[in-house]
Amino acid sequence: MMPSFKIILCDILNPINDKRCIKVRKGAIVLKKINKDSTNEYKILDYGSEKKMINSYGHKKSCVVKNRSDQLCLPGFIDTHFHWVQDDVRLMAKKSLLTWLERYTWPYEAKFKSKRYSLKRSKLFHDELLQVGTLGGAVYGSIHGHTVDHALSNFIGDYIVGNVLMTQNSPDYLIQSTCTAKKLIKNLANKYKAKYAVTPRFAPTTCADVMLFGAKQAKKNGSFIQTHLSETENEINYVLSLFKDIKGFEKIKTYTGIYKKCGLLGKRTIMGHGIHLSDEELVMLSKSKTSIAHCPSSNAPVSEFGLGSGLFSFKRIEKAKIHWALASDIGGGPFLSMFDVMRSFVNSNKKAKISNATYTKALYRATLAGAISLNKEKQIGNLDRNKWANFILVPSPKYKKGETAESILKSLSQVSLKKRSRYQDLVLSTWFRGEEVFNRNELF
Ligand SMILES: [Zn+2]
Repeated sequence: MMPSFKIILCDILNPINDKRCIKVRKGAIVLKKINKDSTNEYKILDYGSEKKMINSYGHKKSCVVKNRSDQLCLPGFIDTHFHWVQDDVRLMAKKSLLTWLERYTWPYEAKFKSKRYSLKRSKLFHDELLQVGTLGGAVYGSIHGHTVDHALSNFIGDYIVGNVLMTQNSPDYLIQSTCTAKKLIKNLANKYKAKYAVTPRFAPTTCADVMLFGAKQAKKNGSFIQTHLSETENEINYVLSLFKDIKGFEKIKTYTGIYKKCGLLGKRTIMGHGIHLSDEELVMLSKSKTSIAHCPSSNAPVSEFGLGSGLFSFKRIEKAKIHWALASDIGGGPFLSMFDVMRSFVNSNKKAKISNATYTKALYRATLAGAISLNKEKQIGNLDRNKWANFILVPSPKYKKGETAESILKSLSQVSLKKRSRYQDLVLSTWFRGEEVFNRNELF
């Protein structure tokens, strides 16, 4: 029998917004079992000082206390943009977005045609996600429908997944007919509803007909929409040169305008990147409540294993009242750990002398803001009471007089650039709905 209550003794950081993160030293988090369909799932009942929590709940029957008092509890991460089928091209040479796609990414994605290969890789990727403490997000597969099935059946967490749609300007080995693309959208949107995302790869590779059809199917089934927008300037010029000759698009002057015309903007839409946007485009995104997935480690210079796409102006986006959250953009981004993404966000803004890019903000944007992008902020995203008990435990930095949530997060994230891969080892355990689904000690 699973206990009705679990109390975990640990330090706690609970992100609330860009400026506020609740810190509890010598704390405890209390989980309560939810008896639904005889599953063993837990929600957060309460958290606070260890003393208070033990006094209030320690006497309960069927209560287990776990002592992790040298560890720090944070919510599970939410990664709002990554390609699970690009795991092997993360560290390949990235001279430019378009050549990296053609040279490495597309040939690699073509391997996923094999169901056996896809299934095998999805199991490995499931392990990787838990090791870095990611428990939700918005995910791109390849053009093959089974990459959606495999991700949704094997990844533990709250994910929405889509198969990329590639009907034009794509290599022979990775192109599909309009008819195949529509069939896949129809079947998968109908099957997975809100767990599915209609996913035009980006405007150059997906014909307007399929984008229009996808938008309608998403609306009908309550599915999401995700695609790439204005990542590099070359890409923008390419898109505009392609669409200016297409009937109905002759007068459209912006990249966002093309997506708008296809019906792709809206509250359930997540646009990847959105770095180079005009004021007019910001208004379109804001009015439609479209959100942006910002991928700082992918946008970072080539010398830092990114694609060198430029600096995302979060201040401009926030001024335009557009919601945004952080994302790893594997494989454009080199590392899956959201700790690396947070560090990249803070450092790239610091280098450009832009203020207020704090770790407190980065943590909020890597957790609760991501839940908002997925329309799941009432159930997941931080450690608030009555949310699912989705969290990670990491080594707690030593207590320092006068410390703040910001200083704790900073010391946690201080790994030199050369050792960035070490972020992958930071998470000691990952918990999904109160169950410990990964424990680093069990790896060895
Ligand atoms: Zn991407």
